[in-house]
Amino acid sequence: MGRYTGPACRLCRREGQKLFLKGARCYMAKCAIEQGTPAPGQHGARRGRKMSEYGEQLRQKQCLRRQFGMQEVQFRRFFREALRRKGVTGEILLQMLETRLDNLVYRLGFAASRRAARQFVLHGHVAVNGQKAAVPSMVLSVGDVVEVRDRAHSRDLATRCLEAATTQQMPAWLSLDRKAFRAELVSLPTREQIAPIVDEQAIVELYSR
Ligand code: SF4
Repeated sequence: MGRYTGPACRLCRREGQKLFLKGARCYMAKCAIEQGTPAPGQHGARRGRKMSEYGEQLRQKQCLRRQFGMQEVQFRRFFREALRRKGVTGEILLQMLETRLDNLVYRLGFAASRRAARQFVLHGHVAVNGQKAAVPSMVLSVGDVVEVRDRAHSRDLATRCLEAATTQQMPAWLSLDRKAFRAELVSLPTREQIAPIVDEQAIVELYSR
């Protein structure tokens, strides 16, 4: 199955919570969740049935996967890699997702949403450690430097987004030099620094079944 390209708000409605997939609109009253729009489908409004343990775990996984716009196969690959590394698997998984190149571009404010950040990277506007990087799923390490390439078009796009990026705070684990359009990953985010978006332990349990 290909990557989901349908309406972003439908995914939030399905999960019953904000997944912040659309940039500025997500912080406005127009947001479908703010307006209380029910889940999609014929029975969307008939929520309330108690979910099984499996159902709960599945929803947590879908929620996280959808926030990062990933397909199941790729998400599982990230999970396997997190499992292989030393430490708490759930936390490592979140760290790996947070330090994906497209997510960093979004967190730095060079793009309005993760979807837009993915496109920004794919279109070759970004360099990592001085080299053009066009792979959105690339996971960065501490000390890596991300910058918007020194091209008028690339920097114009980033400038427009930076000027509009008043809605989210710069994470403490990134240092941004706005004038140079350059940022460094100064440390890996701790669990406390990652917004409690999901119960990552439920995801670990789901994949351990
Ligand atoms: Fe989700 Fe954003 Fe749409 Fe709200 S506006 S439903 S947060 S994508």
